[in-house]
Amino acid sequence: MIVFDLECINGHAFEGWFQDKQEMETQQEQGLLQCPVCDTTSVVQKLHPIAIRTSAPARHSETHQAHQAGQEAMAELTERVARFVEKISRMWGLPLPQKH
Ligand SMILES: [Zn+2]
Repeated sequence: MIVFDLECINGHAFEGWFQDKQEMETQQEQGLLQCPVCDTTSVVQKLHPIAIRTSAPARHSETHQAHQAGQEAMAELTERVARFVEKISRMWGLPLPQKH
């Protein structure tokens, strides 16, 4: 996974998660990149790509830190996917997925 800092035409900064740079460019070309604040698809890459950041403070074990970073990344990704599914469902008038 790779994280891009993105910015929409209205100046909203947000992060986009992609498999690689090509996926980001493909989504940008197809107008799939969308600002989560104002929903515009006029989104540009703000900075150079960065590796997944670890927001956790330094730990004794690097393995533990990497594991936690992975968990945080997965949790955020899951949340983003859930939001995306919800948005698509609303667009298409589909029933929302049941929340457990
Ligand atoms: Zn925006």
